[in-house]
Amino acid sequence: AKEYGKNGCQFYRAEMNDTVIQKLVMEEWLNKAIELEEFVLYYQPQVDIFTGKMNGMEALLRWKHPRLGFISPGEFIPLAEETGQIIPIGEWVLREACRQNKAWQEAGYAPLKMAVNISPIQFHQHNFVQIVLNALEESGLDAQYLELEITEGIAMYHVDQVIEKLRTLRAHGLHISMDDFGTGFSSLSYLKKFPITKLKIAQQFVRDIPEDPDDAAIVQAIMAMALSLKLNVIAEGVETDAQLSFLLDIKCREIQGYIFSRPVPPSDFEALLKQNED
Ligand code: C2E
Ligand code: CA
Ligand code: CA
Repeated sequence: AKEYGKNGCQFYRAEMNDTVIQKLVMEEWLNKAIELEEFVLYYQPQVDIFTGKMNGMEALLRWKHPRLGFISPGEFIPLAEETGQIIPIGEWVLREACRQNKAWQEAGYAPLKMAVNISPIQFHQHNFVQIVLNALEESGLDAQYLELEITEGIAMYHVDQVIEKLRTLRAHGLHISMDDFGTGFSSLSYLKKFPITKLKIAQQFVRDIPEDPDDAAIVQAIMAMALSLKLNVIAEGVETDAQLSFLLDIKCREIQGYIFSRPVPPSDFEALLKQNED
């Protein structure tokens, strides 16, 4: 029994060391990634389905590792949040997204809103508002063309400070949308208190509409709520015609998803901008 315990313990330790080492290696790589310019932003259109025109885009982070190739944000953002590296990475994302949006405006394309994902850890930084304002100033982008996508998780701590920051950002003219809406724990009371402008219906509710009656009911309930709270709505993860016509029927005006385009690199996005002018 003693031996078994010892082996068990060694086994456990070896396994733990693996993850610890993996994490340390990844952390080290992440440190260099900004410096070495290994991050890129892809952009995905947000479309007004009443007009068929693009009215915005979401910036989505990609890590192009020299040996491993593309690493998806799902694989490194949780670690970057754990280590705090999400703070410099997130700041880079903000600056790059603002710079790119301004560059497209200066190239003559009709101005569109750029949505940027903000991790709760980033948002809770004491100088977060200043970082956002600096990115705007440095790029020359007007605040009305920047939208911050926050998540319900932001409301876990310091709710009063969160509201205060959101108010300041709104006062500067930025838009705020609640990402993955319905998957967190936030309640109607938060929604009323938070000065947000848009709800983003989480992909998980969109996936099985119109067939799944529960999801269809949830999406309709979100629409009704948004209408009474005077919030805009966007549905994400729209892939099929059936999903699209359901959303049209219930007057969900904005969508994002593979049905229109996957997230694409800047050069390909520019082709979409050109099309959008016609
Ligand atoms: P998210 O903000 O919910 O982004 C939507 C995700 O759904 C993206 O995955 C996008 O590529 C994917 N998607 C878009 N349309 C469709 C569709 O029609 N079908 C399906 N199946 N998927 C679709 P991605 O780019 O891998 O990003 C994953 C998550 O990583 C994001 O989820 C967001 O939480 C996070 N993330 C991405 N970029 C950033 C960033 O710059 N900062 C922070 N803090 N998080 C980011
Ligand atoms: Ca998002
Ligand atoms: Ca989302």
